[in-house]
Amino acid sequence: MRIGVLALQGDVVEHEEVLSSLGVDAEEVRTKEELSSVDGLIIPGGESTTLMKLLEKEGLDKAIVVRYKEGMPIFGTCAGAILLAKEVVGKGAGNNQSTLKLIDMTIKRNEYGRQVDSFETEVELKGDVKPLKAIFIRAPVIERVGLEVERLAELDGRVVVAKYRHCLVATFHPELVGETRVHKLFLEMIKDNQQ
Ligand code: GLN
Repeated sequence: MRIGVLALQGDVVEHEEVLSSLGVDAEEVRTKEELSSVDGLIIPGGESTTLMKLLEKEGLDKAIVVRYKEGMPIFGTCAGAILLAKEVVGKGAGNNQSTLKLIDMTIKRNEYGRQVDSFETEVELKGDVKPLKAIFIRAPVIERVGLEVERLAELDGRVVVAKYRHCLVATFHPELVGETRVHKLFLEMIKDNQQ
């Protein structure tokens, strides 16, 4: 199994470390050619408008959508989740921020406010009694999810991990606190896809 980590910006190494702790090799993806040889793609956090511009410059935006439609699973964290959302609203977003639009949800950027720019907490993961460690860094809030979207984790009544078909998003960074369960879930999605 070859998992790509989009390596244009953001916390790439931390995702690679989680993957290697799960016994999976990560491939850094910067070009369409590199994308064509992976079985799944992680889009890390960073700055969503910059990331989108870099994707467009490489023609990777369209290539990712094509591979997704062919069945390749994608996992986005924080800015990565913003890039996968159908609709983005909120500070700095403009109201028509362009995204890949692969999951039916509305996401609001930088919604936790300045005072709490970044915080660490625990969230409940569906089907698991052990809470999930989570760090939120200038994180977005998922304001709405479509009826077919699964709510896999919530914090104070807000969805923070969601899944639709083979698209998984988390508004926080599991990779920065040594949490491997969301990545495991993603690996299972890839295995299911290969059967
Ligand atoms: N605030 C960033 C954005 O809106 C996301 C931050 C992150 O990925 N940690 O793009």
